[in-house]
Amino acid sequence: MNEYFFKLAHAFVNVAGSDRRFPVHRIYCVGRNYAAHAREIGADPDCEPPFYFMKPADVIAKSGATIPYPPRTKKLHHEIELVVAIGKPGKDIERSRAQEHIFGYAVGIDLTRRDLQEVAKEERRPWDSGKSFEGAAPISAIRRVDEIGHPSVGRIWLAVNGDIRQDGDIKDMIWNVPETIAELSTLFTLASGDLIYTGTPAGVGAVNPGDKLTGGIYGIGEIRIEIG
Ligand code: MN
Repeated sequence: MNEYFFKLAHAFVNVAGSDRRFPVHRIYCVGRNYAAHAREIGADPDCEPPFYFMKPADVIAKSGATIPYPPRTKKLHHEIELVVAIGKPGKDIERSRAQEHIFGYAVGIDLTRRDLQEVAKEERRPWDSGKSFEGAAPISAIRRVDEIGHPSVGRIWLAVNGDIRQDGDIKDMIWNVPETIAELSTLFTLASGDLIYTGTPAGVGAVNPGDKLTGGIYGIGEIRIEIG
C-alpha cells in the first residue's frame, strides 16, 4: 500500500470567516422538493412526496474548482440547492427542535448525469451512477447559524456563462428545512458533519466542457465552478 494512502485528506468544507473546516460525514439529498421542478421532470408534486438519496462524502468540490466533465454521459445537468450543515447529532428529531441541530447553511450544486439517471428510473435501478461521480457535489463555504440565522425566504439562482437558468425562492420548498430534518431523522441517525442538499427549483439543464456556472442564495452566499 502506497504511503500516500495514509495521508489522504478527509472531505472538508470551508467555514466562512473561520480557519476551521467542516468535516463531511454523509451527503443526503432531497428529490423533488419544489413543485415546478417536479413538473418539469414529469412528476406530479401532489402525488409524490419528496424522498432521499445519498452521495459519498468524497464527491464534494469547492467553489472555484474546475470539475472534469464526467464519463459516460452526454447530459450533465446542474441543480442549484440550499445545503444544510448538521452540527448536532440526533434521531427522531422534533420539527420544533430541528433548528438546534443546524451548524450552518451553504450553496450547493447537485450535479447529475441525467441520462444515466433516466435509464435508472426506467429500469427501476438505483440512481447512484447518475448522482455520484468525482466532483458531483460542489459547495460554497458554510455560513454559520450564529452569523446569519435560519434563512427561509430568499432568491436562489444559477447562471451558465452569465445566462440565468434557474431563478426561484427557497420559500417554495415543498418540505421546509425543519420538516426535512425531522423526517430524514426518522430514517437515519443524523450526525455532526452531515450535509443535506434540499432540492432544486425549476430550470435544470445541461452544461458542457468550458461552461462557467455561477449561483447563489440571498443571505447565504455564492458559488462558482467551471466544467473542465
Ligand atoms: Mn437535486
